[in-house]
Amino acid sequence: SAAEAGLYTATDQIVLLTPENVDSVLVNSSAAVFVEFYASWCGHCIAFSPIFKSLARDIKEWKPAVDLAAMDCAAEENRKVCISYGIRGYPSIKFFHAYSKADSEGEDFAGFPRDVQGLRRSIIDKLETHKEPWAPACPPLEPTSQAEIDSFFDTNNVQHLALIFEEAKSYIGREVTLDLLQFENIAVRRVLNTEEGLVARLGVTEFPSCYLYYPGGNFTRLSVKIEARSFYSYALQRLPGVVRSGKPPPVSTPVLTGNSEEPWRPFNRSRVYMADLESALHYSLRVEVAAHTVVKGEALISLKKYVAVLAKYFPGRPVVRNLLKSVDSWLQNQTRDEISYEAFKDILDNSAQSPDAALPEGVRWVGCQGSQPHLRRYPCGVWTLFHVLTVQAKNTRGTDPKEVLMAMRNYVHSFFGCRSCAEHFENMAMESLMEVDTFSSAVLWLWSRHNLVNNRLAGALSEDPNFPKIQWPSPEMCPACHAVKANGDHSWIQKEVLPFVLSYFSSSSILTDYLE
Ligand code: FAD
Repeated sequence: SAAEAGLYTATDQIVLLTPENVDSVLVNSSAAVFVEFYASWCGHCIAFSPIFKSLARDIKEWKPAVDLAAMDCAAEENRKVCISYGIRGYPSIKFFHAYSKADSEGEDFAGFPRDVQGLRRSIIDKLETHKEPWAPACPPLEPTSQAEIDSFFDTNNVQHLALIFEEAKSYIGREVTLDLLQFENIAVRRVLNTEEGLVARLGVTEFPSCYLYYPGGNFTRLSVKIEARSFYSYALQRLPGVVRSGKPPPVSTPVLTGNSEEPWRPFNRSRVYMADLESALHYSLRVEVAAHTVVKGEALISLKKYVAVLAKYFPGRPVVRNLLKSVDSWLQNQTRDEISYEAFKDILDNSAQSPDAALPEGVRWVGCQGSQPHLRRYPCGVWTLFHVLTVQAKNTRGTDPKEVLMAMRNYVHSFFGCRSCAEHFENMAMESLMEVDTFSSAVLWLWSRHNLVNNRLAGALSEDPNFPKIQWPSPEMCPACHAVKANGDHSWIQKEVLPFVLSYFSSSSILTDYLE
């Protein structure tokens, strides 16, 4: 279909416009919308598409106020629509304010910047200055005054008021305001350095800086490693009482439904547990693979590669490693192009009864426990397992840097029960897995792809409110991993991330609590 041939996919946080949905997206929408009209064959459009995708990831929290959309005018079925919006050159960006009428052609965004920061700032300028009705979800962006702050808590029922002190030309205050748009119990206002009364009252000397202000005039400075948007937004979204709108508040004692649930196992949130890894093995080999009564063709190749990688790199207890090795050698000896799951299961359950080889039955989630039975668990275990395997392959110097990632790709493709997850993962693999050429780049590839998934899923229904999706590792876990670029945008320090990931998932740091 046209959507597939275009430059964007459903997972880019960009609305894909079609003749069928264009009216419902652009006409009378409660959010403002920036639309890129492009042609999939146009070189400038191809060059611009990664920038537009990064922008979409960067401002995804702003969606209720401003959304991004795209239409491929090269697709036959879209031509009429593109003509009706007066599109002649590609790429064109048009701005549709909230509640645009059916006959609106949108406003041309001529000469738009070709970088994420420039685009983000232009979007803020447009939101602030356009004359038409504002998106109702868009919070006030103009600087606040002493008078507004003095009566703030008379009219606003929020727990925290964050004041960002900055110079007039700074965009940080407005960016953070929009980053917090989907969170409750907090309001953000920017205060200019020229607002002398407030600057003097709080004793502010650094611009930008962020203060939390409370009823009665109490205040404290927000402590962050770097005075920058990403650090402010991360810290404010995690203040006590601050929750994503429409989500149940995090609970301190997990909600357990029914008596069949096991008791909660206390654990350290910044450690890896062998119990999760063994549970993931049990679930994948005894439940997921068992969905195939006969394993053949591509699936059989996937299973062989997966088990081979487990036999080589799974840093488990000797009994488990012995079992994996015997399953591996049995599988490698199967020369027919199909096996029955029953035969496989016999080996897996050690029907020969060797005393020193076993994979424990059942699951016992620890670091992957969820606050509800349908949250976290197996998919958390799968990510953890493969991070551990990429790290172990690096530490034990395998021969092929892509081996573990290819085994994961094939396993997910052939067996992973969440089929749309498998599709997304396959797309990411097709896009960039080939670039992996060292064991370190394999570790970092999985880390960065996992963060892309986290970004996409932040705020989704599958997110456990007690375990919000973050760009991992957080600034608390690894302060040295985070920095800002010259322009103030967040950046990862990869030479710090790599040793952090290597140590976090290394076999010597895996905890063995709760094993039988
Ligand atoms: P998870 O994302 O499962 O992470 C597990 C643990 O890994 C975290 O607790 C943290 O300690 C650590 N971690 C987090 N980020 C990183 C990182 N960047 N690098 C290293 N370690 C990290 N769900 C969907 O709804 N849609 C999808 O398209 C989708 N695709 C998926 C594709 C794959 C291949 C997998 C394995 C899962 C997918 N899922 C998808 C499930 C989703 O990613 C989560 O696994 C699930 O929501 C449980 O989340 P969690 O909070 O336990 O953390």
